Amino acid sequence: MKILFIILTVSYILLRILFTYLDKKGGKTEAKEKLALKYFTEDDIKKGKEYHDRGFGAGVVKKIIDLLFPLVFFFSGFSVCLSDILTPLSFGYLTAQTALFALCYILIQFLLNLPFMYYFSYVLEHKFGFSNLTLKDWLIYNIKQFSVSAVINILIISAAYMTFRKAETNWVWFIPAVLLVFDLILTFLYPYLVLPLFYKKSNFEQGEYTKPIFEVANKAGIKLKKLFQINESKYSKHTNAFFTGFGPEKSIYIFDTLVKNNTPEEVASVVAHEAGHWKHHHVLKGIALGFFGSFVIAWLIALTFPEFSNGLEISKAAGLPLLLFILTVYTYFTTPLDSFISRKMEVTADTFELKTTQKKEVFISSMVRLAKDNKSYLYTDDFLTFWFASHPPMLARIKMAEEFQADEVKNA
Ligand SMILES: [Zn+2]
Repeated sequence: MKILFIILTVSYILLRILFTYLDKKGGKTEAKEKLALKYFTEDDIKKGKEYHDRGFGAGVVKKIIDLLFPLVFFFSGFSVCLSDILTPLSFGYLTAQTALFALCYILIQFLLNLPFMYYFSYVLEHKFGFSNLTLKDWLIYNIKQFSVSAVINILIISAAYMTFRKAETNWVWFIPAVLLVFDLILTFLYPYLVLPLFYKKSNFEQGEYTKPIFEVANKAGIKLKKLFQINESKYSKHTNAFFTGFGPEKSIYIFDTLVKNNTPEEVASVVAHEAGHWKHHHVLKGIALGFFGSFVIAWLIALTFPEFSNGLEISKAAGLPLLLFILTVYTYFTTPLDSFISRKMEVTADTFELKTTQKKEVFISSMVRLAKDNKSYLYTDDFLTFWFASHPPMLARIKMAEEFQADEVKNA
């Protein structure tokens, strides 16, 4: 079944080339333009396109390096060389060897990526007026982010490799189960473990904003225990809000940037959207979907690489780059399903928001503000949206809100 892997890899490369072309070309249609001009100026639209196209050439170079990195690492023999060097350092513990190997791999990848990160998330974000960071703070932020993600990834890789060895042929079931446990733990511990590393949390003290937020939570059946504010403005102008906690008793975290840029009604509307996600158990459904997805991919690996089926061959540290490449290719083909389900969830949350607030004009004004503040590109290609978009395009969300009221009037 190696032929399936080869077909998928070739399709993966061709698709990435096609998507790069479609992304540059965009998907402007007459209908989209007509709707856009109702809420945006020509200048807004132009700025969105400029921001969307930023660093195109550097982006292409980065994509090529990302594609080749694991392959060169593995096929050049560097992988085996590195794992030999690490053997005496791991005192005969295979898991220690895997962890050290993973650390080296992730570190080299990070260093290779650093110039691109500097260009995209520092130079260009400043040029377009999004970033508030000094170079020193930018570096600290990225090193912190790298450290957190390295710790999480090394734990996951080590646990997966241990499972490969211990579970033998059953790894196809066991690995997704191990990943599921990680996913659950991370989701629930994130606000307590990861969030404090990056943000300062304070009590939300924005008088006029509090009442509409409580009203929305009440309507959604959420008992709000605490309102927190976190200082996203230290990093960017990005806006958000999210709930934490078990059962119907919740705390809400609101980005200070959301309050800075929006009216109390708009903030309440955003909170209603998040409440919709909670009400429909989207986080748990997402985790269940992740489990299903990782099972499909594990099964595909076992099918196309029968030599891995006893879990022993795959469990050698030197094979990690190849395994990661295989994962990247296979995950690419499960992405459209993931994106489709995510967009469905967003539509559900948007509908919940509209039903709760009954204010379509507030929904639309906050969408328009969001698009302007983030310099969103309005004419994304439909095939790209189908494959990757976690949210429906901005114009589709605005159109849904417009039609939502029409429905309500019709049904009344
Ligand atoms: Zn959402």
